[in-house]
Amino acid sequence: MLKFGGTSVGSAELVARVADLIVEATTTHRVVVVVSAAAGVTNELVAAWDALQQGTLDMPALLARLRQRHRALAQVLSEHVALRRSYLATLEETLVRLARLLEVARHDPDSAWRDEVLAVGERLMAPLLAAVLRARGVAAFAQDAIALICTDAQYGEANVDLEATRERVQRWFARIGRQTVPVVTGFIGATPDGRTTTLGRGGSDYSAALLAALLGAEVLERWTDVDGLYTEDPRKSPDARRYQTLVLEEAWAWNHAGKLGMHRKALDPLVAAGIPVHIRSTMAPERPGTWLLPADAPQSLTG
Ligand code: ADP
Ligand code: ASP
Ligand code: MG
Repeated sequence: MLKFGGTSVGSAELVARVADLIVEATTTHRVVVVVSAAAGVTNELVAAWDALQQGTLDMPALLARLRQRHRALAQVLSEHVALRRSYLATLEETLVRLARLLEVARHDPDSAWRDEVLAVGERLMAPLLAAVLRARGVAAFAQDAIALICTDAQYGEANVDLEATRERVQRWFARIGRQTVPVVTGFIGATPDGRTTTLGRGGSDYSAALLAALLGAEVLERWTDVDGLYTEDPRKSPDARRYQTLVLEEAWAWNHAGKLGMHRKALDPLVAAGIPVHIRSTMAPERPGTWLLPADAPQSLTG
């Protein structure tokens, strides 16, 4: 299981690199990918929702910014005309739906609409990454997590129904060919009646952990913009030191205390299932990163 955060897919060059990393992983493993919205896109959607509530939303400007950003990311497909055209069509359809959604929400500030708006970033990214993988000869497809992650209706930070999710995920996975790579939208779930929910900011970490646990993954590789977990946030503290390995259960407690920069629930499913995590940098893939190893895991995993 590979998870790429928004900073890992923030530019066309990075999307290309992420695709290379995935292709490399497919040479030795059966791969499932979870991806976030491109860096900054969810913030943009949150700001749009707030502006809508205040009556100050400039809808054409919002759509133009999202279009421009994703068209720039789609440059990675410049030599693959048909794949690029097909992605740009998906982009336009998604923007049309977003515009309609914002119109409806203007007159009905139901928080369910907010989650539907926030989910757009992941829905724009997963099809792009799947297209880039197809351009590299991998049988990849984008999967909207509304079909997989079942939640309650606590919009903004929905709670996952594990048993219902397990059944869906396992039934879904059983139908996927071994060589096929699904690219799943992080952050998103759905209520039993199919309305989109979100798992809380940074929720793609949790989505990936859920899928890794429910599929019995060998490892969850969390690719981000720093080369592992540090004693403190390395972007704020230059003296922060990187951990080489941590005991997963210990990291779980620190993460709940907000010390590791991941979604609060990100390690819950992994602790329950005893699945190791390898945190690595997309910007420096050659670095060793940090391993989170279940207390009873064979130490040889770190190689
Ligand atoms: P992504 O886009 O991959 O989801 P995030 O910004 O959500 O990335 O998470 C990575 C960030 O987490 C790092 O850039 C870092 O600033 C922050 N962070 C906070 N605490 C820590 C920590 N203890 N160790 C490593 N990173 C941390
Ligand atoms: N895109 C979502 C956010 O920015 C989820 C994530 O990045 O994990 O919160
Ligand atoms: Mg994140």
